[in-house]
Amino acid sequence: MSDKKLTPDEVAAQAQAAAVEAMMAKAFSKRASTAPASDVALTDAPGLDTQRCGLIAIVGKPNVGKSTLLNALVGQKVSITSRKAQTTRHRITGMRTVGVTQFVFVDTPGFQTRHGNALNRSLNRTVVGTVNDVDLIVFVVEAGQFNQADEKVLNLLPPGTPAILLANKFDLIHRRGDIAPWLQMMQTKRDFAEFVPMSANSVKDVERVFGICEKYLPQQPWMYEADALTDRSDRFMAAEMIREKLFRLTGDELPYTSTVIIDKYEQEGNLRKIAATIVVERDGHKGMIIGDKGEKLKRMGTEARHELEALTGNKVFLEIWVKVRSGWADDEARVKTFGYE
Ligand code: GDP
Ligand code: MG
Repeated sequence: MSDKKLTPDEVAAQAQAAAVEAMMAKAFSKRASTAPASDVALTDAPGLDTQRCGLIAIVGKPNVGKSTLLNALVGQKVSITSRKAQTTRHRITGMRTVGVTQFVFVDTPGFQTRHGNALNRSLNRTVVGTVNDVDLIVFVVEAGQFNQADEKVLNLLPPGTPAILLANKFDLIHRRGDIAPWLQMMQTKRDFAEFVPMSANSVKDVERVFGICEKYLPQQPWMYEADALTDRSDRFMAAEMIREKLFRLTGDELPYTSTVIIDKYEQEGNLRKIAATIVVERDGHKGMIIGDKGEKLKRMGTEARHELEALTGNKVFLEIWVKVRSGWADDEARVKTFGYE
């Protein structure tokens, strides 16, 4: 044993290393403290005085897996996902009630760093507006990674709200030991309430998230029915499903500034008649969507229709048009008319 005196810096470093060790141990212990406190199927709704309910913002730069996580948490597709960044434009809420607790999730557009146009300015306002009124922030990053774009999102978060560091895509990390120095670095970025290494693709991992988040939500009556999953309208969900197919089938060719408008949404008995327009910026983009002999647009329509039929439980008649409206992403007034706050 050496009796050499440690400098204050060394003492601090040791304390931090110990804190990181403790976080790692807790995160990887087979769910010691993370089982939902109320993982019971209740036959009757619990009394108002025992109910818990709160808002949870899922934030992070584009492509870290926020929509995948939200959909898995809610148990239904309420947010579109894509390999292409920047596909989420709206503040989408999904909710899930487990035992006595109702978790109300808010998905945010990734903080936009690449373009400075009117559309992106509007998106950034949505991010800031979303995180200021929540009970808990789930800050999503890719495990082992942290760059300027992550930092920008982190800097937008209010300091007083508890934040969980969710290290997603943990399936891509091959050695757990590699993550300790990264976690140590992350600890200097913010005083995170918890560290959650996981994969949004894993059902088991996703279920653990409820137990972890529950204690940060206040005791108060639920805001929604016990079986509610989203408060978005059918009309909005229709536009989202079409937008997802649009991004999936056009790959990286199509600029993310294209959008979908629902012109008509009518219900006649068990049939829903929907007419939508895909608005693109340039004539050249039209061809990318329509494809050879209309093949691509047809496939988009078929896939969107199947998803909408699954979502609504009704037969769907879907018509999709493609229109060119050049320059709309740069025009503040027009952005508003398309519904972005
Ligand atoms: P968002 O932009 O943050 O909403 O990200 P998305 O949810 O759209 O996901 C971006 C991409 O990451 C998609 O291709 C997902 O399938 C993928 N992804 C999400 N979670 C995981 C994960 O845990 N592991 C792996 N390997 N891929 C994931
Ligand atoms: Mg998303």
